[in-house]
Amino acid sequence: MTTLTAVRSDENLLERLASSVSQLRTSAAWLELLAAQARFHEYSVGNVVLIHSQCPGATRVAGFRTWQTLGRQVMRGQRGIRIMAPVTRPDDGDDDHPVVVGFRGVAVFDISQTSGDPLPQVPCHALSQATSLELRDAMEAAVRAAGFALERADFSDTRNGETDPVRRAIRVRRDLEGAQYVKTLIHELAHGLMHAAPIRREQAELEAESVAFVCCARLGIDSADYSVAYIASWLAQEADPAHALCERGAAIRSTADSILEMLLRTQATAASHAWPQPGSLAALPADQRGEASRVDERQAGEAA
Ligand SMILES: [Zn+2]
Repeated sequence: MTTLTAVRSDENLLERLASSVSQLRTSAAWLELLAAQARFHEYSVGNVVLIHSQCPGATRVAGFRTWQTLGRQVMRGQRGIRIMAPVTRPDDGDDDHPVVVGFRGVAVFDISQTSGDPLPQVPCHALSQATSLELRDAMEAAVRAAGFALERADFSDTRNGETDPVRRAIRVRRDLEGAQYVKTLIHELAHGLMHAAPIRREQAELEAESVAFVCCARLGIDSADYSVAYIASWLAQEADPAHALCERGAAIRSTADSILEMLLRTQATAASHAWPQPGSLAALPADQRGEASRVDERQAGEAA
């Protein structure tokens, strides 16, 4: 497998990623995204709890009129999510620092309760590069060797994957393939290895996608089309993305190294065993039978 043996360290990868993220942030699409994001409030912890207890899948929440300014309407018959809004009065003429004098209940709505114009976004382009079946299989084996159960799943939203670092389970969208599938496996494995203790989502996504970018580059896959926009969107509130990346650089590099080592080790193990021909499945140890039959099914599906 030539791609895997070509793995080597490249200290400049993270610097290149940081400068691409910074460049994207000056584009017209980015400024439009920022203008839209500025219309959404940061909700307090109490309000986040209230929102998720009433609307568990909520992703983007705003008031009736804010949705209208974004070109969307609350759909007929939707019930508002009740949250607490501060009631303020000016502090002796200081308009910039009003005093909170109480709270009142107000209604907000999740994006799923609205229809209309799509929200501006900087698109992440799915990777279309084909990859070898060896790389795909070695990456799946590395995920399992790291102690994670791996399964393909159907998600109702645009998510590519999800990881439960505590239960050690990784689920990846069923229709992903090629470079996009390999990149997502690395991204999810990075979450699994780095994020057993809760951290801010922005930091978790920055780290996982940067690990994926570094590993992919060292495997001969250019994931910039996806990774740069993905990282930029999670760093929207960050004044200096290069600094945020640099701060986490050591952890990102060492996780990328660990994942590539796992990949090489599983490849070496696979090479030291003669892989049985299709049809000799019964000769396999019981714990490998499901794996082999699953790969056969997928290959048949791809040929169709
Ligand atoms: Zn993630």
